[in-house]
Amino acid sequence: AALSRTSEVDIKGGWKTGDPVPYAALAKVFSLIEATTKRLEKTSLLTAFFLLVIRRSAPGDTQSLLQAVYLCINRLSPDYVGVELGIGESLLIKAIGESTGRSLAVVKADLKKEGDLGLVAMNSKNSQKTLFKPKPLTLPFVFNNLKEIALSTGHSSQNKKVSIITKLLAACQESEAKYIIRSLEGKLRIGNAEQTVLVALAHASAIAEQERANKKINKEKLAARLPQASEIIKSVYSELPNYDLVIPALIEVGLDKLHEHCKLTPGVPLKPMLAKPTKAIGEVLDRFENKRFTCEYKYDGERAQVHLVEDGTVSVFSRNSEDMSKKYPDLMAQIPHCIKENTKSFVLDAEAVAIDKDTGSLMPFQELSRRKRKDVKVEDIQVRVCLFAFDLLYLNGEPLLRKSLAERRQLLREHFQPMHLEFDFAKSSDGETTEEIQTFLEESVKDGCEGLMVKMLDGEPSFYEPSRRSVNWLKLKKDYLAGVGDSLDLVVVGAYYGKGKRTNVYGAFLLACWDADAEEFQTICKIGTGFSEEVLQKHYESLQPLEMTKPRGDIKIGGAKPDVWFEPKVVWEVLTADLSLSPIYTAAQGLVDERGISLRFPRFIRIRDDKSAEDGTGPEQIAEMYEKQALAQSKGGKRSKGG
Ligand code: ATP
Repeated sequence: AALSRTSEVDIKGGWKTGDPVPYAALAKVFSLIEATTKRLEKTSLLTAFFLLVIRRSAPGDTQSLLQAVYLCINRLSPDYVGVELGIGESLLIKAIGESTGRSLAVVKADLKKEGDLGLVAMNSKNSQKTLFKPKPLTLPFVFNNLKEIALSTGHSSQNKKVSIITKLLAACQESEAKYIIRSLEGKLRIGNAEQTVLVALAHASAIAEQERANKKINKEKLAARLPQASEIIKSVYSELPNYDLVIPALIEVGLDKLHEHCKLTPGVPLKPMLAKPTKAIGEVLDRFENKRFTCEYKYDGERAQVHLVEDGTVSVFSRNSEDMSKKYPDLMAQIPHCIKENTKSFVLDAEAVAIDKDTGSLMPFQELSRRKRKDVKVEDIQVRVCLFAFDLLYLNGEPLLRKSLAERRQLLREHFQPMHLEFDFAKSSDGETTEEIQTFLEESVKDGCEGLMVKMLDGEPSFYEPSRRSVNWLKLKKDYLAGVGDSLDLVVVGAYYGKGKRTNVYGAFLLACWDADAEEFQTICKIGTGFSEEVLQKHYESLQPLEMTKPRGDIKIGGAKPDVWFEPKVVWEVLTADLSLSPIYTAAQGLVDERGISLRFPRFIRIRDDKSAEDGTGPEQIAEMYEKQALAQSKGGKRSKGG
C-alpha cells in the first residue's frame, strides 16, 4: 500500500534527488493524514513520504530523514533536551497580522470563528494577492527556523520570534501556513502518534533496503520483513530514544546491524519498565508458580532514572524522560556519596521519596509534588529526599538489560553503598508463601509505602523491558486488597458547566483513556462529585486555556455531550467503585463487549503531571480490570452488573 501511495504523496516536478526536501511535500502528506482516521492509512502515507525522502537524499545525507521524522512528531530534538515549541497565541496572531497585512482584531475574530489558528493563517494567506510567487520553502529551512525560535529565550526574544515567523509565513503556499502555525503552537492535530512514525520509519527503511538490494520488490519477502523491521526500530528506540543517534545509524548500517550500533547509553534516558496490577496475593503466586521471585517495597515517590556518564556528568530523569536536575539539586549533590570507587558509569532505576529529616521516616508523594519543577535552590528546600534504588540498567560501559534481575541486583549492591537519609536499596524480601508476602505487605504499608512490587528474578522473564507494562513485574497495593481496585490515569477531554454556585467554573468533567493502537482517546466517564469549590477553581484555571471549540479528531466520543472540549493534555488519577458496560462511553469497545466500559462512582485522587496523555491507562488494562471484577463477582456469587 505504501509503495502505491508514493505518487499521491509526491509533489510534481520540484523534488529531484539531492534537493532539499520541499516543505510542500510534508504539508501535503500532513493534509492526507489529517483527512483519514484510519491508522493503517496514516501509516502507509507516512511510509510513502519517508520512502521518497530516503530515495531522494544524496548519498551520505542523514539529516533529511532525521528532520522529516522530527517534524512529523512535532519535535526538534530529543525529549530530554527540552527544546520545545508551544509559542503563545498572541505572538502568533501578531505574526499572522504582520505577514498578511490584517489587523489583530480581524485575526482574532477569525480565530473565534474557525477555532484553529492554523486555518486562520492559511485562509488569510490564500486570500492575499501577491505579485511574486515566493521561493518555495524547504524542510531544512523550516526546521532550522523553528529551532531558532524555540531556542531564543528572554523578553527581547519576542520581536525576533515574530520576525522569523513573519518571514516563514511570507513564503507559505497552499496548506503550508496551516501546519507551520500548528507546529509553532505545539499541536499538529493530525492524529499522528509517535508509534505510527516509528512503524512508518521501519517500513520505509525495509522497502528502501530491498529496493537497493534487487531493484524489484519481492512482495512475499517484504511482507515478512515489515513486522521484523518495526520490531527492530521499536526496540532500538526504546533503549536509545534519540533520533539524532538512531536515524544516522539506520542510514549508515541498515536495520539488521542497528542494535549493535545503538545501545543504551548513559545520558540518554530510556522509557522505564512498568508493572501490572494484581488484586490478591493468590494471583501473584499463580503467576510466579515454581519461579523465583522477589518482593520489594513500592515506594510512594517519583520515579528517578539516574545516569552517570564516564566524564562525571550526573543527570536525573523523570518517568517521562524530563531532566529533573533542576528540581532535585539536593539529589544531585547526594548521588556521588553513594557510588563506590569501582563505579565509573551507570544507569540506575530508583524512586525519589520524601523523608522526615529527623526521623528518616517516609512521607507521602504529596510532599514532593509541592516542589517546583525548575530552579529549586538547595537553601529553600523544606522536604528532604532519599533515593531508593531498585534496578541497575547499565554499568561501566555495559548495558545490563539482558541480564537477570538477580544479577543486576547483585551488581547494584556491589557498586553502590547506602547512605543515611540519602540513598538506600529498595527493601526486599524473597519470601515465597502467602503468609510471608502478607506480612511483608503489611510491613511496607506501616512504613509508609503503597504496597509491594513483585518481580521475577531469574532468566529471560526477568530481563529489563523498557517502556513495557510487563507481567513480570506485578504491583500489589494495599488499596487492591480492600477491594477498591487499581486507580486509573485518565485524560480530561471535556467539561460540563457547573450549576448554582458553580456557574463560573466547570462542575463536572469528561474523562477518556488513550488507545495507543488505535491512536485515539476513548471516553470513559463523567466525573463531578467530591470536588471542593477551591479544587474546581484550580481545575478551571488550568483547563480553561486548553478549551477547543470542536472536539479533536482523535477523540472517539460516543454519546457524551460535554459543554466544552479540551486539548487532551491533563492526566488525572481516578479511583472507581467498579466498572460497568455502557452504551454511552467508548472505552475498550469491542474488547469484552460491543459496548464500552465505564467507571461507576469515579473519584478524583490527584493530578498526574508526571504523565503525559499517552502514558495514561489503556483500554486493554481497563478490559482486564473489568474481567477480573466480573470473575471476582461470579466467584463471590454476586451478579455481574450491566448498565
Ligand atoms: P502508579 O500510579 O502505581 O505509580 P505507574 O503507572 O506510575 O503507577 P506502575 O507500573 O503502576 O507505574 O508502578 C510502578 C511505579 O512504582 C514506578 O514507576 C515507580 O515510580 C514506583 N516504584 C516504587 N517502588 C518501586 C520498586 N521497588 N520497583 C519498581 N517501581 C517502584
